[in-house]
Amino acid sequence: MTTLRSKFYESQDKKSTFFDYDKTKFDFYVQMNDIISENDKKIPSEQIQIWTKKTINACIEDILLEDMHEVLHRIYSTTVIKGERKLFKNGLEIITWDNCFDIILDVHRKEGHNKNWQSNYEKVSEKYVISEICFATLVQACTVCRDVIHPISNPIQFNKKCQVYTLCMESQPDPPFDKIILLVDRMTSFVHLRPVIGSDKQYIATELLKIFTDFGVPLELMTYETLYLNEISDIIQNILGVKIMVTIDKNDLNDLTTNWKDRAYILLKEWLDVTGSSKWSLGCHFVQWQMNTNIGVYVRTPFELVFEHKENFAPKERRRNIPI
Ligand SMILES: [Zn+2]
Repeated sequence: MTTLRSKFYESQDKKSTFFDYDKTKFDFYVQMNDIISENDKKIPSEQIQIWTKKTINACIEDILLEDMHEVLHRIYSTTVIKGERKLFKNGLEIITWDNCFDIILDVHRKEGHNKNWQSNYEKVSEKYVISEICFATLVQACTVCRDVIHPISNPIQFNKKCQVYTLCMESQPDPPFDKIILLVDRMTSFVHLRPVIGSDKQYIATELLKIFTDFGVPLELMTYETLYLNEISDIIQNILGVKIMVTIDKNDLNDLTTNWKDRAYILLKEWLDVTGSSKWSLGCHFVQWQMNTNIGVYVRTPFELVFEHKENFAPKERRRNIPI
């Protein structure tokens, strides 16, 4: 099949003669359809957010129903342009997955078939809101890039950005612990969960230090909580001599993308219910394992993305059977 647009690309892509616009586009649509149908089968806390006509319309409906001063209005807005109602997030237009192909492809080609889709995602995110998974999928579908490098994660990206959360567990006593620190690596979704006691900065810094000395130090720690991360990063810097950038991201509080805290809470609650135990400090290890060895929508688990090998040799079925 040759379209006008594919002819245009043939003339443009002198160097990459094997770039096939139609095949790339076709494979992108096939893979995205698979991902969306897999995603729909999951429980909401496990789903990744993909902007489709359905999710956009649901969001528009919520905004129109909601009072002007409510949460959604702080992030989203909606306007009718040329007879079509559009949705905007923080002032940027949201593009559905089936309308984003040419936008992503243009950046991907301008960057010389850059397989590091995260940096393309960051560039496009200055103008539009497009689901992250579309960028990873495009590299997988691109006839130039497929099979060359695993598109989901470049090992260098591990520990680039980590998010830090606190799970307050005071309502369910498990002395001496009263909260859990949850550390999420943005690019690989690899998580750490640590039961902790109180808010002493030196103590929390030591707990993070134990993780960092085993797994490396993140370039950037992101949080929306008052975790005294600046002081903690100073303590860590004094000991390891490595600088950590701390970003307080207020928007994250209302971000509707993967809700890590909820996922951890749900898995922990399930563990407590199933085992009949009240020792959530022990359950943390189980939840960390679950989250890092769950296949999700990607081909590889977070564990495999980080370590480049399987976490154990259990058959796939057994690993997939974990009730999440
Ligand atoms: Zn490519």
